[in-house]
Amino acid sequence: MAEVERERMEYDVVVVGAGPAGLAAAIRLKQLATAAGTELGVCVIEKGSEVGAHILSGAVFEPRALNELLPDWRERGAPLNTPAVEDRFLYLTANRALRLPTPPQMHNHGNYIISLGNLCRWLAKEAEELGVEIYPGFAGAEVLYDEDGRVRGVATGDMGIGRDGEPTERYTPGVELIAHETIFAEGCRGSLTKTLIERFGLREGTDPQTYAIGVKELWEVAPEHHQPGLVVHTIGWPLDKGTYGGSFLYHLEDRQVAVGFVIGLDYKNPFLSPFEEFQRFKTHPAIRDFFAGGRRISYGARALNEGGFQSIPRLDFPGGALVGCAAGFINVPKIKGSHTAMKSGMVAAETVFARLSGDAGGDGGATVREALQRSWIWDELYRVRNIRPSFRLGLWGGLLYSALDTYVLRGRAPWTMHHHPDHTQLIPASAAPRIQYPRPDGQISFDRLSSVFISNTNHEEDQPPHLRLRDPAKAIAINYRLYDSPEQRYCPAGVYEIVEEAGTGEKRLQINAQNCVHCKTCDIKDPEQNIDWVVPEGGGGPNYPNM
Ligand SMILES: Cc1cc2nc3c(=O)[nH]c(=O)nc-3n(C[C@H](O)[C@H](O)[C@H](O)COP(=O)(O)OP(=O)(O)OC[C@H]3O[C@@H](n4cnc5c(N)ncnc54)[C@H](O)[C@@H]3O)c2cc1C
Ligand code: SF4
Repeated sequence: MAEVERERMEYDVVVVGAGPAGLAAAIRLKQLATAAGTELGVCVIEKGSEVGAHILSGAVFEPRALNELLPDWRERGAPLNTPAVEDRFLYLTANRALRLPTPPQMHNHGNYIISLGNLCRWLAKEAEELGVEIYPGFAGAEVLYDEDGRVRGVATGDMGIGRDGEPTERYTPGVELIAHETIFAEGCRGSLTKTLIERFGLREGTDPQTYAIGVKELWEVAPEHHQPGLVVHTIGWPLDKGTYGGSFLYHLEDRQVAVGFVIGLDYKNPFLSPFEEFQRFKTHPAIRDFFAGGRRISYGARALNEGGFQSIPRLDFPGGALVGCAAGFINVPKIKGSHTAMKSGMVAAETVFARLSGDAGGDGGATVREALQRSWIWDELYRVRNIRPSFRLGLWGGLLYSALDTYVLRGRAPWTMHHHPDHTQLIPASAAPRIQYPRPDGQISFDRLSSVFISNTNHEEDQPPHLRLRDPAKAIAINYRLYDSPEQRYCPAGVYEIVEEAGTGEKRLQINAQNCVHCKTCDIKDPEQNIDWVVPEGGGGPNYPNM
C-alpha cells in the first residue's frame, strides 16, 4: 500500500484511554493550568465507541481520590448513588454457605456501589467542561518516536483497511497526535503499553505482572431480592483449593445487581473455564435466589492486575509515563483499583505539568514513580503486598497467612513474597483432571454466545485480524497437542475454536475475532506468549451500558 500522509494534531499532553486513570490525569492537568493561568492543550483518545463503552469493573468505589480531584462531586452530580451498607463474606461448599468474619480490607463503610462506566461518562463531561478534547472511537495503534527514541505521541489506527490489508472504499488514514508528553492509561495489559514496557525495559528489576480474569453480568432482580448497598463476596466452591478466586455480588440502585467471578490467571488446569465456573457459581443454593424472577441485562469480561507492589514497573520513559492499571495499582485484598488508578493519573499529571512548566528545581525534577512513592498509593500497596502471593499455599494457607500478615505483622513483614508469570503455570492436559460443567439452564446460567450477544459487541468484519499469532503453527503443535487448546475455555467470548478441516479431518484453530470483548486474557495466558492482542478499528468491541 502506498504511503499516505496522515493528518497531524499537536497538543501539550495526549492521554491514551478514557478510564478513571486517564480522565483523572486530564482533569488534573487542566485544573493546574487554570490555576497557573496558562494554556494547556490536552486530548484524550478512547477506543470504545463512547466513553464507558469498554469499561467493566465491579464496582465498589472508594472515593478517596475523587474527593481530592473534585471535592464538590456531590453537588456536581457524580453518579455515586448507593452507599455500601452491609458486607458479607461467605465460604461456599457445594451446598452450604458459611459466614466468615469480613477481612478489614473488605470493609466498605464510606464506599459506594457504582457503575464505573457511568462514573467515567461523568468524569468525561467534567473534563470537557475544563477544555479537554475527548475523541471516542479512536484507538491508539502506534507509538510515535523522534529520532532520539523519545516518545512524541501516538497515531490512531487507519479506518477502512480490508481483511487482506488493502484499503477499502471506507479508507481514512489514522491521525498523528503529537505531544510534549504522552500519558498511557490503557488499563490492564494495554497493547501500546506492552510495546513500551519492552522497548524501555520498564520491568527490569521488578516481579512479573500477574493477572486475573473477571467475568461479570448485570441483572435487574425482583424487588423482594434487592437490598441496595449490600456487598457479598464468596470464596470456595466451585473452585478447587489450589485455584485463587471468588465472586462478588453488589446491589446497586434501580433493582440492579452486579454479579461476577474473578479467577487468578495462574490457574494450572487447562480444562478450567472461567466463564463456566461463573455460570456454575450462580446456581449455588445460597446465591441463585437473588436471581429468581430477575432478568440479565448485560455481560462482559476484563482482565485485572494482581501483582501489586512488587510488580509496579518503572513508570517513566522519555516523553511520557504509564498510569492506572496499564502499570498495575490494584489493591487485591480490597479488590479495588479505580481509586489508585485515579490517584496515579493525578500524580502523573502533577509531575508532567511541573516538567512542562520548566519547574525543574521543584517537582519538575521528579519522576512519576518518585512522586507516587510519596503518595498514599505506595503505603497502601506496600502493606498488602504479601497477601495475594500467599495464596500459593492454597486457600486455607493463604487465609491463615493473610490473617497473620494483617492482624499481627500489620503489613510490615520483613520479607516480600514474589510472583511467577501466569503463562508458565499450566500443566499438560494429560496430567490434568477434566472438568465437567453442567449445561446452562437458560434462567440463571447461560451459554457463551447468548452472553456475548448482550455485550453488544460489534467489529467491522472486513478488517485485518486484531488477534495475531506470532507463529501460527504453535496453535496446534503446542497449544492443542500439549494443553488441549486452553484458549477455547479461557476466552469468555468463544473467540477461539478448534475445528476439523472437511476431508482431511485435520485440526485447525479458528479465530472468531468479531466476538472479542477486549478482556486481554489471551494475550496474558497463552502458554507460549504467541498471541498479540492489537487494537481493532476504533469504535469496535463491546458496547457496555453501565458495567
Ligand atoms: C471484574 C472486575 C471487578 C473490579 N472491581 C473493582 C471494584 O469493585 N472496585 C474498584 O475500585 N476496582 C475494581 N476493579 C478494578 C478497576 O476496574 C480498575 O482498577 C480500573 O478500571 C483501572 O482504571 P484504568 O483507567 O487504569 O483502566 P481502564 O478502566 O481499563 O480504562 C482504560 C481505558 O482505555 C481504553 N483504551 C485501552 N487501550 C486503548 C488504546 N490503545 N487506544 C485508545 N483507548 C484505549 C479502554 O477502552 C478503556 O476505556 C475491578 C476490575 C474488574 C475487571
Ligand atoms: S479473544 Fe482474547 S481478548 Fe478477546 S475476549 Fe477472547 S480472551 Fe478476551
